Parts: sequence; C-alpha cells; structure tokens
Amino acid sequence: MSENNIVEEIKDEEIKFIADRMLGKLVKWLRILGYDTAYPSFDNDLSLILIARQENRILLTRDVNLIKRRNICDFLFIESDHWEKQLLGIIKGLKLKIDLNSKIFSRCSLCNTLTKEVDKKEIKNYVPPYVFLTQNKFVYCPSCKKYYWRGTHWQRMTQKIQKLSLNESGERFQKNE
Ligand SMILES: [Zn+2]
Repeated sequence: MSENNIVEEIKDEEIKFIADRMLGKLVKWLRILGYDTAYPSFDNDLSLILIARQENRILLTRDVNLIKRRNICDFLFIESDHWEKQLLGIIKGLKLKIDLNSKIFSRCSLCNTLTKEVDKKEIKNYVPPYVFLTQNKFVYCPSCKKYYWRGTHWQRMTQKIQKLSLNESGERFQKNE
C-alpha cells in the first residue's frame, strides 16, 4: 500500500467503497464479501471524489493523477493490475476481518443490492440440478432476479483469504514452532 493512503481506522461494518472504472472484477468480489461498493458508470474524477465524500466511501483507484489532487477524500491507491492481488491487498491494508459466514453473498455482485435468503425448496427449477444437489444455502437479488450460491470460484477464494489471515498471524508465532 502506498504511503499516500489516508484511510484511518474505521470499523469494519462501516467500511464502504467506491471504485473507478478500472476495477470491475475487484468490485464484484468486494460485494461478494459483503462490502457496500459503488461502481459508477461514469469516469469523472471530480464526481467520484464528491460521491466518496458525500457517502463516506473509500475511493479505490488505479489512477495516479487522481490521487495527486488536493483535498481528495479517503482513498486507497491500488497498485496491482490483478484483481486477486488487489483484493488481498485491501484486506491486508485495511486489516479487514472477513466474515466468511453471515456476510458472504449478502450483496448482489452485479448491482450492490442487499440479497435475500431463499428456501432451497423454492429454487429447484431455477438452478442447475448439480448445484441443487450439492448446495444448501441460496440467496436472491430482488433487483437483478438472480440466485447466488457458494460455487467453486467462491471456495477457491475462501481458501486464499484464509491462507492470507494465517500468514498474517503466522509471522508472530513462527519462532515458537
Ligand atoms: Zn442485483
């Protein structure tokens, strides 16, 4: 993380983001992890900064020129151009405590709307048979009318996030082993 970052300690549940147009894949995953993440369709620096200030969002940007502006807003400069490194960098940089149970899929990855839990019995005709057999928890986006479940992409990402937190605490305990 860059030394220019001006994000101070914020409670995890209060953290909200807004991302510039270069960060689509990252936005998707922040929403999957339950973080309120705005992703405006315009690419106007001043508007991004204004929304970030008005709505108390941390601006995520890869734009070096943008962060050189004076009186910007809370922001994180994203160095990597790879979404996984970006995500793990944010988790590490802000010391996010990812809630792998209740917060996951609490937001729609497409539109940021809060999802609703649905009863497995109700969705039999809406998801592939294999998914129906192997998954138990489903959520629904009332805005996109889309169902979500914890598929293989999600399982791989969980492992990476868990490994990251293990590495974090591992450093402290390494010498005793
Ligand atoms: Zn949606």
